[in-house]
Amino acid sequence: MSASILVVEDEPAIQELVAFTCTSNGFKVRRAESVGAAQDAIRAELPDLVILDWMLPDRGGIDLLRELRADERTRALPVIMLTAKSAESDRVAGLDMGADDYVVKPFSPRELASRVRAVFRRRAPQHSGEPIAYGPLTIDPQRHEVSVNGAVAKVGLSEFKLLKFLAGHPDRVFSRTQLLDNVWGDHVFIEERTVDVHVLRLRKALAPVGAQHLVQTVRGLGYRLSERPE
Ligand code: CA
Repeated sequence: MSASILVVEDEPAIQELVAFTCTSNGFKVRRAESVGAAQDAIRAELPDLVILDWMLPDRGGIDLLRELRADERTRALPVIMLTAKSAESDRVAGLDMGADDYVVKPFSPRELASRVRAVFRRRAPQHSGEPIAYGPLTIDPQRHEVSVNGAVAKVGLSEFKLLKFLAGHPDRVFSRTQLLDNVWGDHVFIEERTVDVHVLRLRKALAPVGAQHLVQTVRGLGYRLSERPE
């Protein structure tokens, strides 16, 4: 279940370098060479992160970034801008527009890989492969294990994915549609009430370690993982 990265870059040599760096670090890669192609790719399947060139043949990468941030489906999608421009004003503009980080060309594959991992750690820890701690919970993706003070909870695969996602974004409320998109992948035809079933199973799985209250229903909105009172 490796994370997927969409590489949007029109220069073939740089696209190849970025794609190679990502695949050799264990990520799945798709490529686009224009804003239009990137929009098609994102519409077809939501990636987990976008590496986005500043200068593209049809439109500016920053235009795509603006659109991603304006759309509920892609608002939280992590984006790293690639730019040949080292001018501070461009970097600031990119960050102001909601880019999570930027990499200035020329860059080393090692630098790019470490930026990608850092953004995943910060924005989508469920893809970093490292254990996620929230409140009394420790979620270890490598060992596929959920524990509280060393006591292990028996959690099914779907419930594990759901918990990992919620723990990566604690205290944030997600609608059933958002959970389907992010946990099961969008364009997967699962009914929204299936989410309710998995939430119930997750609570049941966490009950023996006394953590079921962390999975909270927010009436009319959806679900969240939180230590706050319900
Ligand atoms: Ca370019």
